[in-house]
Amino acid sequence: MKLLEDLIREKGIIEHGEVLKVDSFLNHQMDVKLFQEMGREWARLYAGTGVNKILTIEASGIGIACVAALEFDVPVIFAKKSKTKNIAGEVYSSTVVSFTHNNVNDIIVSKKFLGPGDRVLIIDDFLANGAALLGLIDIVNQSGAELVGCGIAVEKAFQPGGKRLREMGVRVESLAKVAKLEDNYIEFCD
Ligand code: 5GP
Repeated sequence: MKLLEDLIREKGIIEHGEVLKVDSFLNHQMDVKLFQEMGREWARLYAGTGVNKILTIEASGIGIACVAALEFDVPVIFAKKSKTKNIAGEVYSSTVVSFTHNNVNDIIVSKKFLGPGDRVLIIDDFLANGAALLGLIDIVNQSGAELVGCGIAVEKAFQPGGKRLREMGVRVESLAKVAKLEDNYIEFCD
């Protein structure tokens, strides 16, 4: 998506040759018009697939998912990072190793909001190693819902997550795919 790629080139900051900071328009200050265009693009790509729920993970995915949900006219569920274990069995839970924060989080989703019959689109800001998406997919599978696919803003295609997920048969639609990051240089996939 050209608009997103242009903004990344103009405003993205590369750290340590592998982390792309997009705080000025995507995951701190938020360019909601951009989110609307992204939501429209995912709605076009997933037209006719019967998505009835969008699932994301706190915190950075929530803004993008909410604006996209307006295009799909469906609710958003965000997986919460939780310190509480699933004692009473009222939540689905999984584990995510965070790339950016170098820590491990248990994530939970209430069983009230996801179950058999749901058709789920997962949305997130970045795809790197795929841990966040694998955790969310695990939760979809536990619930008995159907995973329709994933919508990602920025895929770092030089990291293994996208390939791993596609090899598993998961549909992944990334709006900007970064082929290469160096200290002052960024290259997108064709
Ligand atoms: P993964 O689980 O695929 O390794 O990483 C995905 C998560 O890590 C995303 O939800 C995102 O919050 C964070 N992340 C991974 N790479 C980057 C990056 O280059 N920049 C930013 N801002 N976040 C990233």
